[in-house]
Amino acid sequence: MTQEHRNKSGFETRAIHAGYEPDPTTGAVNPPIVASSTYKQDGVGGLRGGYEYSRSANPTRTALEGAIAAVEEGERGFAFASGLAAEDTILRSLMKPGDHLVFPDDAYGGTYRLVDKVARPWGLDYTPAAVHDAAAVAEAIQPGRTKLVWVETPTNPLLNIGDIAAIANLAHAAGALLVVDNTFASPYLQQPLTLGADVVVHSTTKYVGGHSDVVGGAVVVRDLELADRIAFHQNAIGGVAGPFDAFLTHRGLKTLGVRMDRHCDNAERVVDFLVNDSRVAEVIYPGLESHPGHAVASRQMKRYGGMVSFRVTGGEAQALAVCERAEVFTLGESLGGVESLIEHPGRMTHASVAGTDLEVPADLIRLSVGIETADDLVADLDRALG
Ligand SMILES: *Cc1c(COP(=O)(O)O)cnc(C)c1O
Repeated sequence: MTQEHRNKSGFETRAIHAGYEPDPTTGAVNPPIVASSTYKQDGVGGLRGGYEYSRSANPTRTALEGAIAAVEEGERGFAFASGLAAEDTILRSLMKPGDHLVFPDDAYGGTYRLVDKVARPWGLDYTPAAVHDAAAVAEAIQPGRTKLVWVETPTNPLLNIGDIAAIANLAHAAGALLVVDNTFASPYLQQPLTLGADVVVHSTTKYVGGHSDVVGGAVVVRDLELADRIAFHQNAIGGVAGPFDAFLTHRGLKTLGVRMDRHCDNAERVVDFLVNDSRVAEVIYPGLESHPGHAVASRQMKRYGGMVSFRVTGGEAQALAVCERAEVFTLGESLGGVESLIEHPGRMTHASVAGTDLEVPADLIRLSVGIETADDLVADLDRALG
C-alpha cells in the first residue's frame, strides 16, 4: 500500500497498515522484533535505512511510530517507555526554566506529580485550571510567559470535558501551544490535532495497547519543527520504547477501532442499568444528556468512551463493598484493557489528593468497562450493589 493511498484511507486501515510494509526479504506481514542495539555500517557512516543505535531509532519502534502518527492524523509519532516518559520529554522539549504552564486542576495523578515534583523544582511555573471551563483556562494563561496549555479530556475520574478547539484558540492567541492528553478517548474517538491541538500525548498502556500487558507512551505532532525538537529530546533523554514493548503496543493498535466500539457499547449498557437503579445516586458519563460536557463531547468525540463513574446512595462503606464484591469487574487500577476494572478513586488512584481541592467524593466508583459479554457486566454490578 503506497503512502498516498494510506493517507486517504479510513481509521482502521491506517491502524493496520500504516508505518510498515511487509518485510522485503521474507514478506512477514508484521514488523519483526528487532532485538539489536547496534547496526552494521556499510563503510563508516554508511547507515542502512538510517539505523545506527537503538536509542536513536529501532525498526520495530519506527513501525509503531508511523502507525500512531497516522491514526492521530499527525506527521510524526514518537514512542516512549511510558506515558510519563513521553510527558517528560514534551515538557523538556518545549519549555525552559522560567516558563509557565497551564495545567488541568484534575490532571492524572502521575502527570501532576511530574509537573509539581520534577518540573517545578527544575524551574517551571504552573497554574491549575478547570479544563471544562474555558474562561478559567483563559484567566490562567499569562500571555508571553505561558508556553504550554495542557488539557486532558475526558478527565479522570470525573470525566469532565474540555473544548479542544476553543482552548486551542485561547492558547494560540497568547502565543502558547496546546498539548492534549488523549489517553481516555483514544485516537479512535477523538483526534485533537484535527481540532487545533499542537501536540497529542498518550499513555499507550491504556486503550492503544489495550490488553494490560505493556506500559508505553506516545507523542504525535504535525509541525515538523516541533517534531525535530521532540526527536532531539527523545534521543537525548532516552526514555524510548524497547522493541518488544513497541511490538505489543503496535499489535494492540491494530484492533483499537473494534475494541473501542465494543467498549462504548458495553459502557452504554452499563450506564443504562446504573441510571435506572435506586442504589445509585449519580452516574457520570459524557454520553448522558445530563452531563455538563455532553454538547462539547458530541462535537469532538465519535462516541463517549469506555470509562464510567458513579456514586452510590450508601456512602463510602457501600462504595468499598461494591468494589470488593464485584467479580467480573476486577478490582484494580489502570484502565483501557479488554478486561473490566473497578476501583475506588478516593482510596486508590486518587488517594494522594485527599484533603486538597482535587479530592474526589468518597462514594465514587470508577469503572473501566471492558469488552466481555455485556449481560455479565450488568449482572455483576447488580450483584455487587448488594
Ligand atoms: C496512565 C496515564 C498516564 C501515565 O502513563 P503511564 O503509561 O502510566 O506512564 C498519563 N495520562 C493519563 C490520562 C493516564 O491515564
